[in-house]
Amino acid sequence: MTTSPWPRRTLAIACLALSACATPPADMPPLDTRFSAASQDSRVQFIVIHATEEGFEDSLRILTEGPVSSHYLVDATPPTVYRLVDEDQRAWHAGVSSWGQFGSLNAASVGIEVVNPAPIKTATGLIWNTPYPQAQIDAVIALVRSIGRRHGVRADRIVAHSDIAPQRKVDPGPRFPWKQLADAGLIPWPDGAAVARQRPAYEQQLPAVKWFQQRLASHGFAVPQTGELDAATLRVIAAFQMKYRNSRYDGQPDAETAALLDVITTPGGLLMQDGTPFKP
Ligand SMILES: [Zn+2]
Repeated sequence: MTTSPWPRRTLAIACLALSACATPPADMPPLDTRFSAASQDSRVQFIVIHATEEGFEDSLRILTEGPVSSHYLVDATPPTVYRLVDEDQRAWHAGVSSWGQFGSLNAASVGIEVVNPAPIKTATGLIWNTPYPQAQIDAVIALVRSIGRRHGVRADRIVAHSDIAPQRKVDPGPRFPWKQLADAGLIPWPDGAAVARQRPAYEQQLPAVKWFQQRLASHGFAVPQTGELDAATLRVIAAFQMKYRNSRYDGQPDAETAALLDVITTPGGLLMQDGTPFKP
């Protein structure tokens, strides 16, 4: 069974409401549309959230005139959702990307760019100074809820650009409040009580790097399986931390990260907002 916060039948209802679904283009040969296959779903399997790392004017120019694009651009002041690419079309937002068995996610996703400045580079790493205003996040939540409902997107396939391209991308960054999406019932979240139970054992002994790599891969990340804490592995751990433990995202394996990974990759460890286990 697929855990999804929205009923499947809304897809069919949405299509019936659009006359375009029933009217073939004039240049098509005559069609007999009396029959419809039971086995079908939307091409949109993922929602990918980005930060523009630019101000609004530059974000709009780059996304409308440049070689990249996104379906939606969400500004902060005032909170405004711009649609730049129809959801039926492919936008060029993900680049080289993967999650689990899926690759090249542009073909199977809707991309949302959220206006937020680029992180500042310092000697000790990147620093994100600008929080996302609540009204902007409220708009993102409403947008994700609608896209997910209409396309039947699985709750665990609402992802960050840094999830699907951790070697190249760090957006939307550690200040993006994923927990609010969980509290809104949109994404699953690790069972906090289970994380607290697991943590002391990992404080006694941290698992080997290979364990982290295997668990990160089982969650969905493309991660090397070298057993070495190399730069590529550090970037993947940092991407995981930015989402689930944004108080520290240095990429270093630690006890809390291990406990979170353990719970997230154990069946029943991810919960929906109502406390029910997420079932992939
Ligand atoms: Zn991005």
